[in-house]
Amino acid sequence: MSEFTLNLIGNQPAINFLGKLIKRHAAGQTLSSGVYVFAGLPNLGKTTAANSFAQALFCQNKNTLPCGVCPNCRAFAAGASLDFFVLKKEEDKKNISIEQARNLINQLSLSAFSRSYKIAVIEQAETLSEAAGNALLKTLEEPHARVLIILLTTDVDRLPLTIVSRSQLLLWRQTPLNKIVEMLGELGAKRPVARDLARLANGRPGLAVSLWKNYGDLQNFLAPAKLFLNSLGQDINQRLLGFDQLWDKKLTGQAAVAAADGWLEQFIAVTRDLLLYHQNLPELTRFLLLADELQKNQQRFSARELLELQKRLTQARMYMAGNVGPKNVLENVLINIS
Ligand SMILES: [Zn+2]
Repeated sequence: MSEFTLNLIGNQPAINFLGKLIKRHAAGQTLSSGVYVFAGLPNLGKTTAANSFAQALFCQNKNTLPCGVCPNCRAFAAGASLDFFVLKKEEDKKNISIEQARNLINQLSLSAFSRSYKIAVIEQAETLSEAAGNALLKTLEEPHARVLIILLTTDVDRLPLTIVSRSQLLLWRQTPLNKIVEMLGELGAKRPVARDLARLANGRPGLAVSLWKNYGDLQNFLAPAKLFLNSLGQDINQRLLGFDQLWDKKLTGQAAVAAADGWLEQFIAVTRDLLLYHQNLPELTRFLLLADELQKNQQRFSARELLELQKRLTQARMYMAGNVGPKNVLENVLINIS
């Protein structure tokens, strides 16, 4: 009896589905060529699952897959698997280009080494142009192809419809709080710590683990929320100075946008936390670890002002998605807090 092993918490329906495919493969059936879409927020384990699934299909073991020790597993772990490809959008480009897609198609259509599958993982698949997507679909139609394409996306609504309609869609969901608390407990976290971190991770087990294992990660993660809370009681010059000290000026392009989006997400969460204080529900806040700072700032704004602030922050997040410079967006937000 073969077993698919995947060290992930939550998302059992998706993992069970992949497990079933692995079992069929281990029983000697050939999986037909196809596209799988893994859709969901960042940090939910989509990439980990895609990698383990591919490794399991290449694994030479038949019992526990992936075994991690056979030559194929070791080649995979070393990034030396000849039948596995990862495609991501180039830094500072808006889309995955048709050239990139063509290059991948060429590699997929060479006959597989070791007569195994050819597997491609495409990150940020929502940046795939329709032409590139259609070209990829064609590789699946070749009669001898054993091609599996896994598309990772945070926004399934932005994938070309022609692709979605021909793919198996697996939705990745946020993990319930108690599951993350349990998992951190198993790693040795005391219960109050586990609860604080689980609340902070907001359904993302991968994030919870890295915050637990690395105190530096935790401090870095909290920094934008702290900056925002400090800013509430400062004049504009102090706010901009604080921003300047914390913002990583080496970030450019998509990396800067992603970082700024993470900051705005925290700013919005802090505003929500302050509203929860107004409703006497501090135990429900995301930033339990910043309780002192939240308490200190709770009376600075009325509930109505907080709601308006929340609206402005949400708008800023949308502007940024529309390609306004991320640094400018954050500075504007901080200037216009009050
Ligand atoms: Zn193996």
